[in-house]
Amino acid sequence: MSFVQKTGLSLAIATATAVLLSGCATTGPSETLLSSGLTAVSSPQSATQWYQLGASEADQRQQQTATTGKAKNVILVIGDGMGITSLTSGRIFSGQQLGLKGEEFHLSFESLPYSALVKTYNTDQQTPDSAGTMSAIMTGTKTRAGVIAVSPQAERANCGSSKGTELTSLIEFAHQQGKATGVVTTTRITHATPAATYAHGPERNWEADSQLPEEAKANGCTDIASQLVTSDLDVAFGGGLKAFTPAATGGYRADDQDLTANWLARPGHHFVSDAQQLQQANMKNGQWLGLFSGSHLPYVDERDDKIPGLLTMTQAAVERLSQDSDGYALVIEAGRIDHAHHAGNGYRALKETEELHQTLDWLINQVDLSNTLLLVTADHSHTLTLAGYPTRGNPINGVVKGNDDRGLPKTTPELLEDGQSYTSMNYRNGPGAVSMPRPGVDEATALQPDYQQQALIPLESETHGGEDVAIYGAGPYAHLLGGTMEQHWIYHLMRYAITGKQEI
Ligand SMILES: [Zn+2]
Repeated sequence: MSFVQKTGLSLAIATATAVLLSGCATTGPSETLLSSGLTAVSSPQSATQWYQLGASEADQRQQQTATTGKAKNVILVIGDGMGITSLTSGRIFSGQQLGLKGEEFHLSFESLPYSALVKTYNTDQQTPDSAGTMSAIMTGTKTRAGVIAVSPQAERANCGSSKGTELTSLIEFAHQQGKATGVVTTTRITHATPAATYAHGPERNWEADSQLPEEAKANGCTDIASQLVTSDLDVAFGGGLKAFTPAATGGYRADDQDLTANWLARPGHHFVSDAQQLQQANMKNGQWLGLFSGSHLPYVDERDDKIPGLLTMTQAAVERLSQDSDGYALVIEAGRIDHAHHAGNGYRALKETEELHQTLDWLINQVDLSNTLLLVTADHSHTLTLAGYPTRGNPINGVVKGNDDRGLPKTTPELLEDGQSYTSMNYRNGPGAVSMPRPGVDEATALQPDYQQQALIPLESETHGGEDVAIYGAGPYAHLLGGTMEQHWIYHLMRYAITGKQEI
């Protein structure tokens, strides 16, 4: 049985689980389970839907076998800032959007057969940033925070210390192997995470030339946008047009260059800037730069139809890259989960996570997992917490309503020792910090898209969290995932899958 079939089965079981355990079931468990070939056993224990679906899942998992052929394709998917609490809250949110209670739902990628925990620290920071974490994932070595694919010896924002220490990224290695390469993101294409796939330098904030200090210019460092338009990428989709256009036209470039023109001047290179152009593009060949916003793409709930979403960009990228008979390497980033968390805004973090879930739902069914390594992870966590004792199916971003002494749901909000109500989701720090006496929260306010969950420590921008993140995988060598991994091991796993062996 192939991974494709097994993943499909696993998703089917997950869906059945979601329907049956949501309390919205229209079919009984016996009907569903008999079709999977399980033997019906009658006892008070085995009569429950939970027991039978658990047995069914064990039955599926014992049939799982490792895939050890070389990977033709590698797809790495990053939910930026999508820590464990984001996953739990995100799955409940996505399930509740479908009318389920939510807790029983599975995000699409949570059904991939292999997983592990990942340690995210940088060489110089206990709690990391996205530049250091993506540099680790892309180059096979941890680095300092804030640097883009240069060695751990390089000091941040010190060009002289970084020259000659540029590290070959997994995307660049895949290009050397003859594969097509691409990167897709909802952030600026020059932002830290996508930048670490194609650029090198000691400072993530050098996105346009106007941001380079004199020392950097004197020592020959170049901005990230200019590195993109001279890169070997076949596909680069995201936001961030202003780093490519001159100040005279509202951009950030001091050199008066229009880098989109420089890209277009290369043979076979194309540029698109809205959803319609992307849809009409012939993605059978050529190199494609798509910049759909001046800065980051708007959040999902604030986008108009001129701007393609993560799924649309991913579909176009896969269409182009899969034309290469040598295979491809693709990085996909749902980058604005992180931004919503920084804003202390749980709703948009969950909406962005839902978009990633929907994109992966398509991708998992589209690619051939017998020759494609698919990895889904986060670069780091945030300080989001999920707490209190809300009843099953309580709106994930709502006010906590608990159960009575018999375990039956109450209709009025729980009140704490301070006499006030509270929400399930909160942040440890950030712009939602409250001063004492703590105000209560009513349900209508908590469910507003702009609502900032309460926090303890006041900060203009909520911070990253330092705990481990999850990684999920399927396809060649995905079975090497396991236990608690160092983040830079992810590179070695992908390289091993491409070459079929380890090379030092
Ligand atoms: Zn961040």
